[in-house]
Amino acid sequence: MTHEVQPNGYKPFVIDVEEAKLEKTHEEVVEAARKSFKSGKTKPLKFRLEQLKGLEKFLTECENELVKALDQDLGKHRQEVLMTEIDLLKHELRQTAMELSKWLKPEAPPKSWVNFLDGVLVYSDPYGVVLVIGAWNYPLLLLLGPFIGAIAGGNCVILKPSELAPASAKTIATYLPRYLDRDSYQVVCGGVQETTHLLKIQFDYIFFTGSTSVGKIVHQAASKFLTPVTLELGGKSPVFVDDTVDIVTTARRILWGKCLNAGQTCIAPDYLLCSKNVEERFIEAAKTILDEFYGEGVKVSPYWSKIVSERHYKRLMGMVSDGEVAIGGFGDPMERTITPTILINVKPDDLVMREEIFGPILPIINVNSALEAINFITEGDKPLALYVFTKRKDVKDLFLNGTSSGNVTINDTIMHIMTENLPFGGVGASGMGNYHGKYGFDTFTHKKGVLVRGLGALTEKPQFIRYPPYSDFKTTLSSIVTAKRRSIPGWWFKWILVFGLGVAFAYGVQWVRNG
Ligand code: NAD
Repeated sequence: MTHEVQPNGYKPFVIDVEEAKLEKTHEEVVEAARKSFKSGKTKPLKFRLEQLKGLEKFLTECENELVKALDQDLGKHRQEVLMTEIDLLKHELRQTAMELSKWLKPEAPPKSWVNFLDGVLVYSDPYGVVLVIGAWNYPLLLLLGPFIGAIAGGNCVILKPSELAPASAKTIATYLPRYLDRDSYQVVCGGVQETTHLLKIQFDYIFFTGSTSVGKIVHQAASKFLTPVTLELGGKSPVFVDDTVDIVTTARRILWGKCLNAGQTCIAPDYLLCSKNVEERFIEAAKTILDEFYGEGVKVSPYWSKIVSERHYKRLMGMVSDGEVAIGGFGDPMERTITPTILINVKPDDLVMREEIFGPILPIINVNSALEAINFITEGDKPLALYVFTKRKDVKDLFLNGTSSGNVTINDTIMHIMTENLPFGGVGASGMGNYHGKYGFDTFTHKKGVLVRGLGALTEKPQFIRYPPYSDFKTTLSSIVTAKRRSIPGWWFKWILVFGLGVAFAYGVQWVRNG
């Protein structure tokens, strides 16, 4: 595959269909998708459902290849691949397929009196050609999750998997096109150079998952064409634990969230805020739990993932020297594994507290109260996820009302991403926009407000007040008519109809009686 710049465009690494040979420029790929979108083929419900079914078939029939690829890229255990990627995607696919016909119907919001005789509707229009850029840590979920919303929305899609999970990218690029409409959906592989070039092309929507710093680059590139974006970014997701909780269950849930994919999860608990007393009990519990999870040691555990690259391995080992190691702290550069590590006596200005960790290191910062924890959190960027472990309702409410974050889970970690009907996304530095289920469909559709009016005398007569010549009378009448009042509830129409029929019937009887 060539990567050199061509005089009439860029020759990227594009894998298309079975032979994985056919090369096209990015421009040609986007052009083909645009042509397909213009033909209208992606809009019918039947087509969208077929494509969703095709995607599900890909996940089922290529499961072994995908599991193998994720093992190669990240050393992920099969259960983790199924639990946190494939099964989640299948669940969302089925939910979308079951509900799509309902979502596609134009919404009819409540009407005001002024629009009594009008049709007031909201259509969900596809944007057109959409670019989805994925991250490496969940190479399937983060690429194909948004893809589901984009297909459901009736768009054509260019998928750009992360170059840092090359086996997964190759598996997706080789097999996925066999299951889908090839004009409408294409996979484009490559790294920074390719992504930079892709971003020079005009898309109708860009959905990016990755770091905050690259998110800014994507946002800037999109602004050139005023392309709307969703940015699913990262950051430091805090955990607060108070002294009311069962420390063993709490530690188990926090460590599971931290150790999943060796901490390389965007919503992994990044650091822990608790009192000194809770810290001591947490560390005691953590020793037992890590033994339960990984037995002899993570280096030999089949359940432990490796760090994605040498650069990230070195970056993480550099953080281990912050504070004092309470548990773990060992790394194996050959295997690129780092044991689960808990750091105590960490200072807020240590490296491990200044950057998103994105690895199996959990620093603990001591605070004496929930309020102190909230002050600490709100001084930093808005987190992608916030975790609070408490039995106290007032503490829970304090966090819910006193902080802003993408999502919150009380008394657990990670599980909000697996919860149906919750939007998933960041706020501030952790991102903009959200997806999953109906939220994904909404993200990938433009909400087009439609007003339908009649041209008959009944509609036209009252309109005289808006036409010149203007007068004080018309002005007053216009203010009265357009003043905000409660919307007309649906049941009103029924009652008005029943009342109208009753009156008509009474008049009819009267008329017959009178001959
Ligand atoms: P990244 O930002 O380095 O890369 C993401 C994508 O951007 C890749 O496809 C890459 O090719 C491209 N890219 C990288 N540098 C670029 C540049 N200079 N110009 C143009 N494109 C560029 O992120 P990553 O290392 O793949 O993922 C880790 C980060 O992503 C973490 O911060 C993590 O928190 C975040 N993340 C967020 C979510 C979420 O759902 N919010 C999920 C996973 C990861």
